[in-house]
Amino acid sequence: MRCEVVAVGSELLLGQINDTNSSWIGQELAAVGIDSYYQTKVGDNHDRMVEVITAALHRSDAVITTGGLGPTQDDITRDAIAEVMGVELIVDEDLLATIEKMWTSSGRTMPENNRLQARIPEGASPIPVQPGTAPGIVAEFDFHGETKVLYAVPGVPWEMREMMHGFIISDLVERSGETSVIGSRTLRTWGQSESGLAELLADEIDRLDDAGSESGGVTLAFLASGMEGLKVRITAKAPSEAEMEQLLADEEARVRDIIGPIVFGIDDQNMESVILDLCVEKGLTIATAESLTGGLIAQRLTAISGSSRAFRGGVVTYATDVKSTLLNAPEGPSVSEEMVEAMALGACATLGADVSVATTGVAGPDGWEGIPPGTVWVATCVNGEVETHLLRYKFDRERIRNFTTITVLNLLRQRLLEL
Ligand code: ATP
Ligand code: MG
Repeated sequence: MRCEVVAVGSELLLGQINDTNSSWIGQELAAVGIDSYYQTKVGDNHDRMVEVITAALHRSDAVITTGGLGPTQDDITRDAIAEVMGVELIVDEDLLATIEKMWTSSGRTMPENNRLQARIPEGASPIPVQPGTAPGIVAEFDFHGETKVLYAVPGVPWEMREMMHGFIISDLVERSGETSVIGSRTLRTWGQSESGLAELLADEIDRLDDAGSESGGVTLAFLASGMEGLKVRITAKAPSEAEMEQLLADEEARVRDIIGPIVFGIDDQNMESVILDLCVEKGLTIATAESLTGGLIAQRLTAISGSSRAFRGGVVTYATDVKSTLLNAPEGPSVSEEMVEAMALGACATLGADVSVATTGVAGPDGWEGIPPGTVWVATCVNGEVETHLLRYKFDRERIRNFTTITVLNLLRQRLLEL
């Protein structure tokens, strides 16, 4: 099965946005063993879109287009697909009702323009997963004597991803006649660079490569996720679900043997959900005292549903005198080990929690009282015992604040695991 991607949008050609959709889809196709030999970008121009989609269909069994499915004048992917298929666009009444309901259920009236989105090429169907307002399209049709399939998904990345995961990937795998079951598991890591991680796992990747199909089709891939750390994805292919799960479990154990300490979670877990789970499991409550991170840590913790089971609260103590009034911290200096230690203890005492994290530092871009930007003190307090760490970052302000957030939570995670 060959499948290629056509990314639609003049802004992609003008360099106004990066075509991350194509890269992401490329990764997903590779993970399930579908060959993808071409990726094309094309502007919002009818004739050129027809031209590239036609060319793509000549050399591949399936084509996925992203973008141009919105309700505005320049969203013309639907029209181009209809022309390629040699059919008319017709209003799908069910789809129209669904779109109308999306608007009315949130108390709004549907703009007339959105009716356009209910038109799909004759013989095509809406993709049964519709996360946003733009429906996707799936069409199987005869193209010069061969059966081809075309999928159109919106350009908005999260909508595209939900349609891929919720429908397209499994549909493609089914069409490819592949009878084996493919699954993946993602190990989330914090604290290693991409090259460092690659080095640690190089032998294991070589081993899997050498084993080839004997490894049961197990592969490892790295996905950098910026401030969310690095992901190591294990993909396994087997004749049955149970065997596939077994392969994943075996490989996970091998990978954890090598990089265990930096793995903080799997799949949908993130640092804060892991912390909250650990607190609940150990019957502990948690509080935060934030200067440098200004509430980011509390924000992330409370973004998790059910966080109230463990999160007591947090204080943002920015000015030095606020640190002393609210947390009983010393009068200064504000960016120091003594200060962060006092903040962590103060958070537990003031907010009545068993564990806490605290941050203070210089986020930059300028230094402060002779301390260079990127100097950060963090502390974790567990049952009255404080540990402090000095971090030195050479990042911009945003990254310093975000890296500090994850790093201090990770330090707390390591301590909670030891309890
Ligand atoms: P909408 O209903 O939002 O208009 P659409 O299907 O018409 O969806 P576009 O208008 O092409 O999609 O793009 C919407 C937004 O999605 C763009 O502004 C851009 O931010 C993002 N986007 C579009 N194409 C890509 C792409 N290939 N890679 C990454 N982001 C993209
Ligand atoms: Mg649009």
